[in-house]
Amino acid sequence: MPVTSSIIDPIVGIDLGTTNSLVAFCDDAGPRILMDDAGHALLPSVVRFVEGAAAVVGHEARAHAVEYPVDTVYSAKRFMGRGFAEQGASIGGLPFAVVDGPRGLAAFAVGGAVVTPQEVAAHVLRALKAVAERRLEVEVRRAVITVPAYFDDAQRQATRDAARLAGIEAVRIVNEPTAAALAYGIGASERRRTSSETIVVYDFGGGTFDVSVLQLVPGGPDDGEFFQVLSAAGDTRLGGDDIDDAIIALVTGEIRAAFGTELEFPPAARQALRNFAERAKMTLSSAESATLEVSLGVDRNYRRVLGRAEFETIIAPLVDRTIAACRRAMRDAGAPEIDRVVLVGGSTRIPAVRSAVAAFFGREPYAALDPDQVVALGAAVQAAVLSGARRDLLLVDVVPLSLGIETVGGAVAKLVMRNASIPTRATEMFSTSVDGQVNVGIHVLQGERELVADCRSIARFDLRGIPPMPAGIPQIEVEFMVDANGILSVTAAERRSGRRATVQVIPTYGLTAADVDRMEADSFTHARDDMQRHRVVDLVATSRLDLKWICDALARVRDELDPAYLQSLESAIMSLKGHIAAAEHDARAVDANAFYQAKEALDRVSVRMHEVAITRSLRGESA
Ligand code: AMP
Repeated sequence: MPVTSSIIDPIVGIDLGTTNSLVAFCDDAGPRILMDDAGHALLPSVVRFVEGAAAVVGHEARAHAVEYPVDTVYSAKRFMGRGFAEQGASIGGLPFAVVDGPRGLAAFAVGGAVVTPQEVAAHVLRALKAVAERRLEVEVRRAVITVPAYFDDAQRQATRDAARLAGIEAVRIVNEPTAAALAYGIGASERRRTSSETIVVYDFGGGTFDVSVLQLVPGGPDDGEFFQVLSAAGDTRLGGDDIDDAIIALVTGEIRAAFGTELEFPPAARQALRNFAERAKMTLSSAESATLEVSLGVDRNYRRVLGRAEFETIIAPLVDRTIAACRRAMRDAGAPEIDRVVLVGGSTRIPAVRSAVAAFFGREPYAALDPDQVVALGAAVQAAVLSGARRDLLLVDVVPLSLGIETVGGAVAKLVMRNASIPTRATEMFSTSVDGQVNVGIHVLQGERELVADCRSIARFDLRGIPPMPAGIPQIEVEFMVDANGILSVTAAERRSGRRATVQVIPTYGLTAADVDRMEADSFTHARDDMQRHRVVDLVATSRLDLKWICDALARVRDELDPAYLQSLESAIMSLKGHIAAAEHDARAVDANAFYQAKEALDRVSVRMHEVAITRSLRGESA
C-alpha cells in the first residue's frame, strides 16, 4: 500500500518481544505491520555477536544459532533491568554465558565482550527502525514500545535505554495487554470512552503465558494509559513449547516401545523432533488430524496419525493451567463482569485453547487480528493517538459500507446495510448449488456494488462437513454481527448437522474515509448497470438449477412424452441455455427481460413433463 507523503516525523509502534519483535504504523487506513524486504512481519529477537565485526540480527542470527551457540543471544528480554543475582541463576539451560554485568545487572559474555540486555534489544530496535524507514520512506526517530504488564520501573527504564541506544525516543512505554485492547479499537475512541468496560487479555505465546484484567478508565486521560490493570497472573514457564514437548514425549515413548527402550535421542535428533512436533501442532489448528512420521533407518519407520481429539486430551493439562491462572486473575480483580476477551500469542490459534477461554469467560473472544501482530498493531494505534493523527474510522458508530456474502455466479447478497447503527445483527438462509456438496466457501464482502468484482473482499472461510444432500436442500444460516467496537463476526451454520464455522474481521481496517466516499459514489454511478448485472447473475444461477432438475426428470420420462411436446420442451431448454451462455460471455450485453421470459417459458412448458414424472414415480417405477 502506498504511504501518504505527508508523513513527517512519524511515531511507530514496536512490540519488543522475547522471541520475535514487530514494528507497525497507523494512519488513516488503520494500523498495519511494516514488513521487511523479504515480506517478513516478525523479526526474531536474536542477535549474534561476532568479535571485531558487526552483529548479525534477526532471521539470519536465528537460522545459524545452532552453529554459534555461545555467541547467539536470544530471550534477552527476560534479563532486561534484572540483577544478575536475582535472574542470572534462575534461567538455566541457555547456551550463552550470563554474567554479572555493570552495576550488578545481568549481562552476556558473547563475541569476546560483555553485552547488556539493553544493547541486545538496541540491535533489534535498530533493525526495526530500518524496516520502518524503508517502508515509510522517512527517518523514524520516535516509537511507542510495549512491555509486559508486570515489568517494574527498572525493566521499563532498561527498555527506554535500549531505545535511546538505537536512536529512538520511546515516547511512551505501553503495557502489552493495553496495546492488544487498543488494536481492537477498545479505548481508542474518545467518544465511546464513557463506560468502564472490563477486558481480559489472554496471551499464550511460545514460552510464556499471561492473563491480565484491565478496566477502561471512563473519559480517561488523553495522554496517559486508557486502562487500569486490575490484576495479572501467568506462568513464565508455560507456552507453545510445552505443547511441542507433549507431542515429542508421545512420539519418543511410542518409538521406544516399538523399537527398543535403549534408543537415545541426541540433540540434533531432538531439534528435528521439535520442528516436526511444532508443524504437527500447527496442522492440527486447522485440520482434523496430522501424520507423525519418523524414519529411524532401514525397516524402522514410525508412523501414526494424531487426531484432533487425542491431541486435545494430551494438551488438556496445559490448557487447564492457563485457565487456573485466569481464575486467579479474576479472583484478584474482584470477580468483575467481563465485557470482552482479547486473544494474543501464537498458541491462541489452537481451537481447544479458544474454546476453553470462551467457556471459562462465557463469551467468544476477539480473534479478528493475527494474535502475533495484535500487540504491535495496538502500539501503532497508541502512537497515532499520541501524534494527534486520530483515526476517524475508529470512531465508527455506524457501519460505513454494506456487508454481505458472495452468492453463486459472483453476485453479492447484502446482510448489513450501510449506515446501520452498531451494534447490529442480521441473518439470512442460503443453500448449496451442487448435489452432494459437503463444503461451502463463505466469502465476506464490503461495498455498495452488486457484484463481487466491484466490492472489497474482507474474509473467506469454509463451512465443512455438511451431510451430502441434493443441491438446494441444506439450510445454511449465515449470521452477521457487528459489535459496539465495529468488529464483525460472521457465522455459518447448517441446520441439520449443526455444523458451524465462524470468522471475525475488522471491516474498517485498511479503509480510509476517502475510500468510503469513493465506493459510495461509484455505487451511484453504476447503479443501473449493476442492478442489471446482478439480475442476470441471479438468473443464471436459478436457471442452472431449473435446467438440472428438468433435464434429470426428462432423462427418466423421455420415452413417455409425445414427439411434438418433446420438441417444444427441448427448444425451450435450448433457448434458456443460449441465454446462459450469452450471459457468461458478457453479462452486460444480455437482455435481462428476454432471459427472464425464456426461463418462465421453460417453467411453463415443463409442467406437463413433471406431471408425467410424478405419475410415474407414484406407480413405483424409477428410471
Ligand atoms: P508467540 O510467542 O506469540 O510468537 O507464539 C509463538 C507460539 O505460537 C509458538 O509456540 C508456536 O508454535 C505457536 N503457534 C504459532 N502458530 C500456531 C498455530 N497455527 N497453531 C498452534 N500453535 C501455533
